[in-house]
Amino acid sequence: MPKWADILQSSPLPVIVTNRAKWEGGNSSAPEEQRLSVLLDAISLNAAHVDVELKAAELFRSLCEARNLPMPFPTTKLILSHHNFSRPLTSEEVASVHAEMIVSSADVCKIAMATSSALDNELVFRTLQDSTVPTIMLAMGDMGQVSRIVAPKFGAYLTFASVGRGKESAPGQVDTETLNSLYRFRDISADTPVYGVIGNPVSHSMSPALHNTALAVTNTPGVYVPLKVESDFAPFIRKMTAFGFDGFSITIPGKVPSMEGVDEMDEIATKIGAMNTVVKQADGRLKGYNTDWVAAISAIEEKVDNGMLGKRVVCIGAGGAGRGLAFGALERGASHVTVVNRSAEKAIALAKELGDCATGTSLEDFNSLKSIDYDVLMNSTSVGMHPNVDVSPVEDHILVKGAVVFDAVYNPLQTRLLREAEEKGCITVSGLEMFVRQAAEQFRLWFPGVEVPVQTMRTVVLEKLAQ
Ligand code: NAP
Repeated sequence: MPKWADILQSSPLPVIVTNRAKWEGGNSSAPEEQRLSVLLDAISLNAAHVDVELKAAELFRSLCEARNLPMPFPTTKLILSHHNFSRPLTSEEVASVHAEMIVSSADVCKIAMATSSALDNELVFRTLQDSTVPTIMLAMGDMGQVSRIVAPKFGAYLTFASVGRGKESAPGQVDTETLNSLYRFRDISADTPVYGVIGNPVSHSMSPALHNTALAVTNTPGVYVPLKVESDFAPFIRKMTAFGFDGFSITIPGKVPSMEGVDEMDEIATKIGAMNTVVKQADGRLKGYNTDWVAAISAIEEKVDNGMLGKRVVCIGAGGAGRGLAFGALERGASHVTVVNRSAEKAIALAKELGDCATGTSLEDFNSLKSIDYDVLMNSTSVGMHPNVDVSPVEDHILVKGAVVFDAVYNPLQTRLLREAEEKGCITVSGLEMFVRQAAEQFRLWFPGVEVPVQTMRTVVLEKLAQ
């Protein structure tokens, strides 16, 4: 008996037998009749499913007749499949392929296509939702990974997962362990709300681990997925919301272009000019927030008397994070913000936007100051981030005893800036707090009334960083 037949007969679970042709992306280059005869044998051995390429359906049917295997088979379901590994299909192509599968007596229709944009998931969700026959449809690759994870929400017959990391048989597959433990795949149903992090890259984002754990420990319905989006942020947000996505985290490079995808913006997020959170409100309207600033500022405020009120603040960096920190400090009552940036123009321009309570200068000029008086110093540049851990944005003499020093960088947890600040007698706040709190604030916005499991979130991030 061939090895595959052995596996089939000893399997405690239903099995799909496939002998995929080279011309459809598989490994078999055997003559067609010989290739398909394996599937006929599988039917005789009562395999739960055989998967036959739609293009070979007619030959397969005639071989079944010749072998006296009338369709439909008594114990085996016929999956007719179509794969396109080079491009996404149009909706007309999908409709035509799907209809042909049904006419060709498929028990289950399977369509897998490559993705060129995250928007391709829309066709997958719509096809599954509208289908009146058992159907599997998948968008392959990182941008289509969500279609594999949330397949049950749209009524897919099944999804394909790999048996382990690195053992994927098609691009974008998630391993079964992750699918079951992280995404709680078996709990996903039509009513499950979907949340996710939009950006590029997102494959190493800690947000899915953090938010899925928070959903699980609070018994809150929902699944949180990575959503690799390279462009078209606003249309993606609108289209996915129509498919039951209830909230998004936004990371680089989507924080600015995503703003066009919401119906309204929180006031301070508008001033900052960037958002990292989308909330679907009770009336269905989408609102954009920025939880980065409040995360960092609240962590700093815990370390100083009277919070930011009346504090003289130095903000190193004038990028996305820097804008949030500078506006946030003033929002909470800081008396003055000095914006310091590698390129002076950006610092001066941001200071102008901030108003009379702010000034801007270059990092070089700032570091050459003999002395400076401030209460809080915040680094929002990537200087000191892994792998270039042995650098600090500020010279040692800039650090003053008793000041609060915050670093947005959280990998490593103790940056060179924080280490030197501690040695100087400063009070330090790590970027880990910003990361955990921006997520905690998102969770609070999405699930008002649910107690946010902040400590659990912190533990998840620490575990991930330790890995
Ligand atoms: P961004 O918009 O690209 O801004 C980068 C900033 O870093 C700019 O001010 C840039 O100065 C400066 N910079 C980059 N390389 C530099 C160098 N070699 N020397 C001096 N300055 C340099 O990025 P962002 O979104 O603001 O993020 C900045 C950092 O904050 C990243 O490390 C990010 O991981 C961290 N962050 C952390 C959290 C958290 O939750 N902890 C959240 C958001 C961001 P120029 O304008 O002169 O280029």
